[in-house]
Amino acid sequence: MMVDAHLDLAYNALELGRDLTLPLAELRRRDTCSEVPLVTLPALREAGVGVVFATLWVDPRRYPTPEEAHRAALRQLELYLRWEEAGWVRILRRRADLVEHRVRWQQDRAPALVLLIEGAECVRVPEEVAFWWGHGVRLIAPAWNRTRYAGGTREPGGLTPLGQELLWAMQAQGVALDCSHLDEAAFWQALAVFGGALCATHSNPRALLGGEANPLANRHLSDAMLRALGAREGVVGVVLYNLFLDPAWRRGQPRLPLAVVGRHLAYVAAQVGWERVGLGSDFDGGFGLHEAPLGLEGPADLGKLAGWVPEPHRPGVLGENWLGWLARALPA
Ligand SMILES: [Zn+2]
Repeated sequence: MMVDAHLDLAYNALELGRDLTLPLAELRRRDTCSEVPLVTLPALREAGVGVVFATLWVDPRRYPTPEEAHRAALRQLELYLRWEEAGWVRILRRRADLVEHRVRWQQDRAPALVLLIEGAECVRVPEEVAFWWGHGVRLIAPAWNRTRYAGGTREPGGLTPLGQELLWAMQAQGVALDCSHLDEAAFWQALAVFGGALCATHSNPRALLGGEANPLANRHLSDAMLRALGAREGVVGVVLYNLFLDPAWRRGQPRLPLAVVGRHLAYVAAQVGWERVGLGSDFDGGFGLHEAPLGLEGPADLGKLAGWVPEPHRPGVLGENWLGWLARALPA
């Protein structure tokens, strides 16, 4: 069973108008977006992707206030619940759901979703963590760009007092922390106050991306951040976006070779160990087919990445490392 720890499925469906219940080829025929889509639910099923961390991600440029973000995130949640009711997906809420899913998946290949809030503006106040938990959310990434809670991508800054309260509420409730998008200052403060399960669903090593010279340096993980995640049993999902694999790559240029992903996998493994390396493709998260490495035409090709992983660790990197993490992070 493969695991993809980061897909903005509901955003694609509701904001880009993509019918994700279509086969991928059919969606591509109908799609009118400038980027060529990489993911649909049938494509995940056929690929053998058995678990997806599915986001509630609200674009702050479109929904700038916490109230608007909250309503938009609720619409995304409702879509996931409709998919569950229709049998397209199962939502993992507890450890026992994961155990049961692994058995049922052998028969029906329906992917399971773990719900993840990316950019926490939709959590209007920290006390609202309990509400989202009750509706199945099991991870929160406090930042995307900067939020009321923490500094984030392109917008540095630490954890705010409200962010500290958010993390306390998450820990009390048993919601895991997704460190992706956190600015480094906020990252270290978050690790100091948060004692629960943590990970980075979709982040690559800064050292392979031009280091501090990269204008997007704070989107990527320093070696110290990687090692701290590993020390806390956090899994790191490698992102499959060309700009996050080679800082010199630009849109419109030829797609990068798959070997570039191999370098990132090996680098992360050197910091955290192969048992903490996973995939968080972020397919269709602001980029499409032409912005992903050559050879990755959709979820079915994720298995090709095994070629860059030492043989004993292949099942781990493709899925089992995340499944082990989930078995610890999901509530009993
Ligand atoms: Zn993201």
